[in-house]
Amino acid sequence: MAAVQHQLVVIGAGPGGYVAAIRAAQLGLDVACVELEEALGGTCLRVGCIPSKALLESSERFAEAQSGLGVHGISVGDVGLDLTAMMRRKAGIVTQLTKGVAWLFKQNQVKHYRGRARLAGAGSVRVEGPNPVELAAPHILIATGSRAASLPGVEVDGFRVVTSTEALAFAEVPRRLLVIGAGAIGLELGSVWRRLGADVTVVEYLDRILPTMDGEMSRLALRSFRRQGMSFELGTRVSGARIDGDECVLEIADRGELRGDRVLVAVGRAPATDGLGLEELGVACDRRGFIQVDEHFATSVRGVHAIGDVIGGAMLAHKASEEGVACVEYIATGYGHVNYDAIPSVVYTEPEVASVGKTEEQLEEARVAFRKGSFAFKASGRAAALGQTDGVVKILAHADTDRILGAHLVGPRVSELVSELVVAIECGASSEDLARTCHAHPTLSEVVKEAALAVDGRAVHG
Ligand code: FAD
Ligand code: NAD
Repeated sequence: MAAVQHQLVVIGAGPGGYVAAIRAAQLGLDVACVELEEALGGTCLRVGCIPSKALLESSERFAEAQSGLGVHGISVGDVGLDLTAMMRRKAGIVTQLTKGVAWLFKQNQVKHYRGRARLAGAGSVRVEGPNPVELAAPHILIATGSRAASLPGVEVDGFRVVTSTEALAFAEVPRRLLVIGAGAIGLELGSVWRRLGADVTVVEYLDRILPTMDGEMSRLALRSFRRQGMSFELGTRVSGARIDGDECVLEIADRGELRGDRVLVAVGRAPATDGLGLEELGVACDRRGFIQVDEHFATSVRGVHAIGDVIGGAMLAHKASEEGVACVEYIATGYGHVNYDAIPSVVYTEPEVASVGKTEEQLEEARVAFRKGSFAFKASGRAAALGQTDGVVKILAHADTDRILGAHLVGPRVSELVSELVVAIECGASSEDLARTCHAHPTLSEVVKEAALAVDGRAVHG
């Protein structure tokens, strides 16, 4: 079979791969993108960011209609749940967005191949599927993403013991949901099913939730989640799981067991590299299987690059996209840019949790002298009007230069507020710069300004 020649072959059409492919096409490269699933968009669009946010939104409206409207003087009759309709709405959003990626590929003349890609030698990719084909290119970009990590002793059967993919599509609300892992997936999907009526218990190995976030923010968020009726078993290691009749039983190391009707395993994600042919070609991976790359996203094999979840680090869609753009810019122009200190991280619970830059713990460990300013949402007029006063904004700035080093937020819509702090860090702004910037009244963003003023001990409203 004669190979079809391209300048760049991207393997995987997630937010890393599809964005890289489009950017490379903009830069004038002849680009192909191979994706094994029918729908483009990867984990993020199909079974990750987007469907989870659709269900978070729907379940929040349900919870509000049930018990959050009386305070506004609004009474509603019996509130019913049509889970099928809720899932249909979610599926519609996913379809619309994944089709959008296909449209973008056409617009940008990215050639799309459907099938499983395998490295077949230097500069060569074999696509296995309904229409097998050989591709040849001087540059190959691996963006195959990740899959749910497994837990020894806990077998996922896809029905009672599930990963996030199935927990995004339960046909009915579980009565008692056990969640293993208090990371983003456990807390977001735990929140969805709690709001829809399940008793949710989150079992976490460490003695805190959201282990990569600033400690103070984790404690604040935990308090809010507990108030909402979610149960937490912290410092608790799951050693096994078994099915007992209609029940799932989680075995807890040295501490007996927990029973529920469904178990969600959310203990992190592992690189998706099975069958890619990495070993045969000599592409080096670390001991956890993540592909190793240099600062230009080049692997140990000339012409083979990798980005996104498959290289590890923060497993976030926007981090994958940034890396994809930088990688193809290095290939096409010799220049690229990713600032890992300015990559925000958000958990879309109620309240939301957001973070950018260094945590207090990281600065203390690195012995960097810093000053901090915090301001609570309870003093914000807008938060009061919204009826969402839980939470705080904390800004960490260098003790000598005042440059903002980190910002940590818990509260209403902090997923949007964090962007201001990302821009500040990207531009090397000081807390004084933010404090002197006029913020509209009444907005939640005034809390950011007050936190910046608080770094210098001069918050006005608190
Ligand atoms: P992926 O999105 O995993 O895409 C890889 C693609 O490669 C897939 O489409 C796969 O089918 C394809 N592929 C794999 N192997 C091959 C092969 N051999 N041949 C051809 N194709 C192949 N991140 C956020 O930033 N915000 C969120 O709110 C968020 N929510 C999430 C919720 C859930 C439930 C989950 C599971 C994840 C969430 N994430 C979120 C993480 C985010 O989805 C990932 O970080 C992101 O999708 C990684 O992008 P990627 O392009 O590296 O890989
Ligand atoms: P995670 O790494 O964020 O959290 C996993 C949690 O499981 C950790 O707290 C860990 O201590 C705990 N754990 C591990 N083994 C355990 C055991 N045996 N018993 C009890 N607890 C155990 O992983 P995740 O929540 O599965 O998410 C996977 C990836 O997807 C993350 O990297 C995350 O960034 C990404 N994601 C992001 C978002 C978002 O940005 N909003 C949403 C969902 C997922």
